[in-house]
Amino acid sequence: MLKRHKCKMEILQKIKNLANKFAPEFVAVRRHLHQNPELSFQEYKTCAYVKEQLESIGITDIVSVAKTGLLVTIPGNREGKSILLRADMDALPIHEKNVVNYASENEGVMHACGHDAHTASLLLCAKILYQMKGEIKGTVQLLFQPAEEVMPGGASLVMNEKVYQSLGSLPHIGQHVKPDLPVGKVGFRSGKFMASMDEIFLKVTGKGGHAAMPENTIDPVLIASHIIIAAQQLVSRMASPKTPSVLSFGKVIADGAINIIPDEVIIEGTFRTLDEAWRKTALMKLEKLVTSIAEGMGGECELKINHGYPHLINDDALTENLKAFAISYMGTENVVDLDQWMAAEDFAYYSQQNPACFYLLGVGNEKEEISSGLHTPTFNIDESALEIGGGLMVWLTLKTLDT
Ligand SMILES: [Zn+2]
Ligand SMILES: [Zn+2]
Repeated sequence: MLKRHKCKMEILQKIKNLANKFAPEFVAVRRHLHQNPELSFQEYKTCAYVKEQLESIGITDIVSVAKTGLLVTIPGNREGKSILLRADMDALPIHEKNVVNYASENEGVMHACGHDAHTASLLLCAKILYQMKGEIKGTVQLLFQPAEEVMPGGASLVMNEKVYQSLGSLPHIGQHVKPDLPVGKVGFRSGKFMASMDEIFLKVTGKGGHAAMPENTIDPVLIASHIIIAAQQLVSRMASPKTPSVLSFGKVIADGAINIIPDEVIIEGTFRTLDEAWRKTALMKLEKLVTSIAEGMGGECELKINHGYPHLINDDALTENLKAFAISYMGTENVVDLDQWMAAEDFAYYSQQNPACFYLLGVGNEKEEISSGLHTPTFNIDESALEIGGGLMVWLTLKTLDT
C-alpha cells in the first residue's frame, strides 16, 4: 500500500516537473495562436499549426474532423478504457485593445474567450502524455474542436463524423478559462452546470401612419411594448422557481420617427434554461403569448427560433472523482465549488450523450490587473495557468483511466 502510494506521488511529481519544463514552449504556442486568431469554421491556419505541433511531439495518429478540427489518438502501453479531452480553437469578432507584443494581427478578430489557452494547454497535456505513455492504462483521444462560438457549433459537426461515432460512449473532459477565478485555482460543479440557449426573433406587424392620428394606425410599437413586458411571465410565473430561466431582449428596432408610427417592430433576444422539457414547453408558450397579444391588439407577431445548444450536465460520479483528483494535484484550498452558469457551451452536446465534465480554470490575477471578462476587448490570462491547466489534465486523465 505504501509502495503504491509512493508510486502515485512519483507520477504526480513527474507530471508537475514536465509541465514546468515544457511550460515556456506552450506560452509561446498560446501567444502564436493569440496573435493569429481565426473566426469560427475558418480555423484553417490554426488547425494546420496544431497539427504541426502534434507532429513535432511525435504524435502521428491525427484525423481531420469537421473540416477544421482534429481528432488525435494517443494509445497507452497498457490495455484499458478510453477517455476524450477536448479543446476549442475559434476566436471572436472583437477588436483587441490589449497592448502586448502578441496582440491580434488579424484585424477585428480576437481570442477573447481563451480558446487559444485551451488549445495550448491541451497541446502541453499531449506532450506530457506522450512522454508518459507507459503510465497510460488505455487510450487517450484529444479533440481540437472548431467553432464553439457560432451555431450550430463545431461539436454537433464532430458528432456527425463516423470516426467520432466509432469511439462509442466514453468520458469527455473539457476545461474553460475563468477570469474571475484567481490563477492557481480550479472549479467544479456536478449535475446541471450551463444553460441551453435559443435565439428568438420576433417581427411585430401593424399599420404605420401619422403619429398625430393613431386611430388610423395599428401601432406596432405599443404591441411590441406589451409583448416585451408580458413575455417576462414566462420566467416569473410559468417557469418553476426551481428551474433557472432567462429571457432577455437585447435588440428592439422600431424605425419610425417622432411623428411617424412605423409598420413593424423587430425584437431579438435569447432564452436560456437548464431543463430540456421546460425549454420545449417555454418556447411553445412564448409563441402562443406573443401571437395572441398581437392579434388582440389588431396586429400580427411572427416568431422564429434559432435552436442553440442544449444545457450542459456534468456527470456526478465523474465530476466528484475529478474534483478529488484535482485536490490531490492542487491542494484542497485551490479547488472550489462553482455556481450554475447561464452561459451556453457546445460541449453540452457531448454531455447529453456521454459521461462528461466541464470544469473551469482560474486565469485571473488582480495584482497584474488581469481581470477583464470573457468576450471583452481587454480579456487576457495569467499565462502561468497554462502549466497548471496542462499538467492537471494529464493527472485527471491518468487517474480516471486507472479508476
Ligand atoms: Zn465564448
Ligand atoms: Zn469559450
